[in-house]
Amino acid sequence: MTKKQKVLKIIEILENRYPELGKCLTQDEAWQLVVSVRLAAQCTDARVDIVTKDLFAKYPSPRALADAPVSDIEEMVRPCGLGRTKARDISLAMKIIADNDNVVPDTMEELLKIPGVGRKSANLILGDIYGKPAIVTDTHCIRICNRLGLVDTDVPQKVEMELWKIVPPEKGNDLCHRFVLYGRDICTARSPKCKECPLMDLCKAKVNL
Ligand code: SF4
Repeated sequence: MTKKQKVLKIIEILENRYPELGKCLTQDEAWQLVVSVRLAAQCTDARVDIVTKDLFAKYPSPRALADAPVSDIEEMVRPCGLGRTKARDISLAMKIIADNDNVVPDTMEELLKIPGVGRKSANLILGDIYGKPAIVTDTHCIRICNRLGLVDTDVPQKVEMELWKIVPPEKGNDLCHRFVLYGRDICTARSPKCKECPLMDLCKAKVNL
């Protein structure tokens, strides 16, 4: 079985397991996603949700955040860690977006010019906001793809490039979302449930049999 054939089978199995992926984000929410992904570095999703709730209530637009004192942003985002750096990036990013009529760019090239936005975040924005082909190589995606034998590297950009070669472009974004669900549910980092894994026959590692 080629990797392309294997990934199609994996997609089919995960689509059956997780038929729903929740609602798509609107373009109006894109700037909030830029903030959230910046805060998510070395922080849990739950904490990001708590912090952004207050942050967006106080500063409900890119312009409001762009005009906010960086020290105030820093104070509010400190629970997410790296407060000073994240506050600075958010402030600069919101200035760019506010000056662009509140529109978040829809190309990888332009997104990478926004402070704090790397390839992973840019792919997330392209996929979730604009419905464009995207491969989001987060920790779950990297771990599972290595275990399944789809890639043989932990370097996020290399994983992305390897996956682009075998995953149908229109399937990439949803597949990565399903890897996150699967990584929390079955193929966890420390104690994967290999005995109940529907991907077991396709898995190279089977780390916990
Ligand atoms: S068999 Fe185990 S290691 Fe392989 S994908 Fe399933 S849970 Fe992960």
